[in-house]
Amino acid sequence: MISKYKTFPGGYKFTNISGQPQEKLVELKIPQIVIIPLKQGFGNEVPPLVKPGDKVKAGQIIGRDDNSVSSPVHSTVNGEVLEIKKINYFKQEINSVIIKSDGTPDWQPLEGHNADWTKLPVEKIEELVYLSGASSLDREGIPTRFKSSIILPQDVENLIIHGIGSEIYNLSLGVLLAGKKIFHFVDGIKILKTILPKSKVYLALNRYHKNLIEQISKLTSGLDWLEIQPLEPKYPQGYDEMLVPTLLGKKFPYGYSAANIGVVVLNIQAVLHVYEAVVEGKPLIERTIALCGEGFKENLHIKVRVGTPLKDIISQRLKENIEVRIVLNSLLTGVRLKDLSLPINRTYSQIISIPENRNREFLSFLRPGVKRDSYSNTFLSKFLQFFKKELNTNIHGEPRPCISCGYCEEVCPVGIIPHLIYRYVERNIIEQTLINYGIFDCIECNLCSYVCPSKIPLAKFIKDGQQKLINLGCDRSLRILPYFDLKGLEEYRGVK
Ligand code: SF4
Ligand code: SF4
Repeated sequence: MISKYKTFPGGYKFTNISGQPQEKLVELKIPQIVIIPLKQGFGNEVPPLVKPGDKVKAGQIIGRDDNSVSSPVHSTVNGEVLEIKKINYFKQEINSVIIKSDGTPDWQPLEGHNADWTKLPVEKIEELVYLSGASSLDREGIPTRFKSSIILPQDVENLIIHGIGSEIYNLSLGVLLAGKKIFHFVDGIKILKTILPKSKVYLALNRYHKNLIEQISKLTSGLDWLEIQPLEPKYPQGYDEMLVPTLLGKKFPYGYSAANIGVVVLNIQAVLHVYEAVVEGKPLIERTIALCGEGFKENLHIKVRVGTPLKDIISQRLKENIEVRIVLNSLLTGVRLKDLSLPINRTYSQIISIPENRNREFLSFLRPGVKRDSYSNTFLSKFLQFFKKELNTNIHGEPRPCISCGYCEEVCPVGIIPHLIYRYVERNIIEQTLINYGIFDCIECNLCSYVCPSKIPLAKFIKDGQQKLINLGCDRSLRILPYFDLKGLEEYRGVK
């Protein structure tokens, strides 16, 4: 069933930005060395099951702990373990297994998978999802009886699967669901419904992908537990905090997770990994990643083994003679990648490279800007839409006083007033009023900072204000806990 169009207040739609990945998928060759962090995606770090000198197969579990909230980790190549050591991975020290590959592409399937998955008992399906590592995907993992998430499968009331594409750069649904993949995807949804039996399933798709919506609608006709919801690709619609109120009409417990209110949110690639695990017995050893932004020679999608060092993926693909900044997963909120010897893990979906531009631009906001994106529509790019908007690292101007234009307030998807909170934090007035203004409701989407014509880093001020309140002993949960009956809180503490 296709539902009526819904949206949320605020937000911003990015249009006509250059550097979008084309509908092209290239499979990378097997890397010589992989570095496998023993914590990937949702869950705790797991202890290694191998030691230096051991021969391993691609798909073999090399780290597992059934007693803590976690999912198994696999070797992604055939080869030999060289070393196990801690690496600094996104500000965390994580034990990692370094494996020398023999270059062969085959992998070891999971035992008990079945091309006719409907013949498998539910316990076996859950086990395959867990053993494949797919259960560690997305923000809170996929619930199975193996402690792979913070709630149990029977506590899941709603499953939201989304492919909206509301970020500046987005993976192409055409690539992810090409050919037979669309049938695999639909089977993946049915498999998930089998292990989350009480859930109502929502499929949120970009409303402009009409053919895809129609195709999936035909393939799922008769499934009364599934609702297809076309949504405007307006940032940050893909956030759990926006999907839950938009689709379910429920309040979100800001600062907690969708799983805490019985909702599991997954992206399309996670559903495909579930299908591969159960039907093909394929462990989560590779990812499809989009190479986005003007810093790459070509913007395309790559299929790559998990654990491949970044430099092996991007060094030959970056434009020469320009300095670039590399960002992971989201240009607005992603982490900047400085050490290219680090490996990709299961959570990668985009590597973004944009030109570094440190030139000081005097009175930048008065320039015509045919290639610039602007919320205020003051640049000519609004009218000359055949010019693609080009993004670089320059914020085009220096911070200036707030002009009370109200744009930050207009876009804020959770209805707080960023410029008001900013005035308090800037003057170091840290008091209860900030909590009343909803400072802890901020979902860190960074949209307020993006649209501000005065270039004030509002989201940073809001985060600083939150930290100062916490340092004063303020408990952010006091604003949430009286209104929600949250699930899984004890387990949550251990994992985050
Ligand atoms: S970063 Fe926070 S305050 Fe700014 S727009 Fe997003 S939710 Fe609102
Ligand atoms: S967008 Fe910037 S200039 Fe406009 S009200 Fe907000 S803080 Fe002030």
